[in-house]
Amino acid sequence: MIVFKETCVGCGRCQPYCPAGAIYFEDCRSVVDQDRCYECGTCLRSGVCPVDALREPPNVYEYPRALRKYFSDPTSTHAVTGIQGRGTEESKTNDVTLRIGPGEVGIAIEIGRPTLGMGLRDIQKITRALARNGINDIEPNNPINSMILDPLTGDLKPELLDERVLSAIIEMQVRRERLPEILQTIRQVIPELDSVFTLDVATLLEPGLTIPAGILAAIEDQGFSWRPNAKINMGFGRVSE
Ligand code: SF4
Ligand code: SF4
Repeated sequence: MIVFKETCVGCGRCQPYCPAGAIYFEDCRSVVDQDRCYECGTCLRSGVCPVDALREPPNVYEYPRALRKYFSDPTSTHAVTGIQGRGTEESKTNDVTLRIGPGEVGIAIEIGRPTLGMGLRDIQKITRALARNGINDIEPNNPINSMILDPLTGDLKPELLDERVLSAIIEMQVRRERLPEILQTIRQVIPELDSVFTLDVATLLEPGLTIPAGILAAIEDQGFSWRPNAKINMGFGRVSE
């Protein structure tokens, strides 16, 4: 985002709307720190500016800056996935799609939420740790995949490393027995991260609505606490072929 200095009257109303704390005063006008701004569009969509001084910069859709908007603005359509949002389609409709099937778990690492934001270097810290441990199971349609330069090392394309986004999500789908090794790898990389993250583990319930054996123990063994979460759009999914 940018502020038209000639138009801005310095009222400061836009500043509390920025979750990144990227808007500040300079010479009695508001200015956007272009490094901190992750192009979420919240300030603009708020409609709070009385003189229409907030504008998207000309390079907002230019690679690599465009990733900021694709990952951070919920109204934008991601150029890689063709859908809105940071992850893959139908990830919240497993009740219908059975994308995570019997004997499998879905794992998602959501970095940067709530609203703290993150640098893409944090993604690389995780993809490198996974690659070092021989884990190369990121969902093919997840946009993170298109950012990886070398799957064997987990290195991201170097031009992306200084970009910031509101949040990103690494999604995996693996056999249940691999859950402990993946959680252990995630646990080991936590001290390196500069942002917050949420870890999701998704599974089908078994008859009697019980959680399959071993899943909660694997989570607790790595020192994570857990709570059940219905992050699904019940009944809105499309049946998989
Ligand atoms: S687009 Fe988002 S991050 Fe950038 S200045 Fe506006 S509210 Fe802040
Ligand atoms: S709301 Fe508009 S006029 Fe007020 S400080 Fe922000 S950009 Fe300037």
